[in-house]
Amino acid sequence: MLLLGALHISGCGDDGGGGAGGDGGQPGTTSSGTTGSVTSGGPGGTTSASTGGTGGDASTSTSVGSGGAGTGGEGGSGDGGAGGEPTPPVDSGLPTPPGADNVAKPSGAVGGLKVIDWAGFAGAVTYSFDDVNQTQIQNYDALNALGVPFTFYVWTGKNEANNPVWTKALMDGHELGNHTKSHSSNDNGSDTDAATQFIKDKWSITPYTMAAPNGSDAYVSIAQSRFLINRGVSNALISPNDSSNPFKLPTYIPPQNASTAQMDAEVTSARVGKKWRTFCIHGFTGGSDGAYQPIPLNAFLEHVKHVKDFGDVWIGTMETVGAYWLGQKAVSDADTNQTGGETTYTWQLPANFPPGKYVRVTVTGGTPKQNGAALPWNPHGYYEVALDAKSLTLSP
Ligand SMILES: [Zn+2]
Repeated sequence: MLLLGALHISGCGDDGGGGAGGDGGQPGTTSSGTTGSVTSGGPGGTTSASTGGTGGDASTSTSVGSGGAGTGGEGGSGDGGAGGEPTPPVDSGLPTPPGADNVAKPSGAVGGLKVIDWAGFAGAVTYSFDDVNQTQIQNYDALNALGVPFTFYVWTGKNEANNPVWTKALMDGHELGNHTKSHSSNDNGSDTDAATQFIKDKWSITPYTMAAPNGSDAYVSIAQSRFLINRGVSNALISPNDSSNPFKLPTYIPPQNASTAQMDAEVTSARVGKKWRTFCIHGFTGGSDGAYQPIPLNAFLEHVKHVKDFGDVWIGTMETVGAYWLGQKAVSDADTNQTGGETTYTWQLPANFPPGKYVRVTVTGGTPKQNGAALPWNPHGYYEVALDAKSLTLSP
């Protein structure tokens, strides 16, 4: 096991504010060996109880292996169970959203279960980097200093896959995903599996997402049986509960020499439309290894700072945001069963779904319970629902 328990990531979240997982922390609830949740806290100083320091701007922390990174946490105080027993706080790994933190607990008619879009943020953005190119490696410290989590798709047959920077990236809270071993447009699955094996052997994690080399459609079916998400290369926004294909997930590839303003506009459209934009970036201007459509490093750094300044955009990895998007669809499609004044919602998760994921829900009234325990109301305006439980009961 490479990683245990909770890490607060240096280089992320130095400016304090609401740390991710800020619902109290429940150390060591699972130790699945996955990279766990990596989240970017929302700016805006809406949080209370942060360990990170001065409050205010965006911060990032990470809980690796789903251990509890969250030590802050207004939700962690809990509301107590129906029987008066305290409810253990959860570590959802989700960032604290912008907005009021004194929202009253719903007290109306029992029912009205609804998943909150993008965990309470206006929209979401994921930055993914392909091909382990040299300009990603040499500029890693500048990227990491932004304090937001990225997804790096590792072409494992390349020498650069052995660079120690990727181990550091993982420990800094970034996602490492599968970009196959040989980067061929054709595969029968074995080349994809070789990359997964490399990632498991080297970093003791399970990759939950991949990016198809060259966006090849050959990987749509390969990914279906192996991954939660396969990122494609065609550009579109993704909406809550929409029918975007998770095995050919849309992405925006900035043009060569893209400006900060061009990239800002792509996130603005997501934010205004309350959608998710993924980016695919290969490298930065000046590299010698032929990265596809390189962009100026400074333009990208400025862009990400602007997105953080928006304050209402969730910057998360492909795995984290993808699991929320697909988890919302699962809960929204739940079967309902009413008995004795209680409503029970039951859902199925997609194959290859990472463990330890949550969605945030509202109700019109009633007490939501999972595994017999009442869920604590978070005064940002939601309950956090454990997707792994695959069931929730709403009682009067
Ligand atoms: Zn590639």
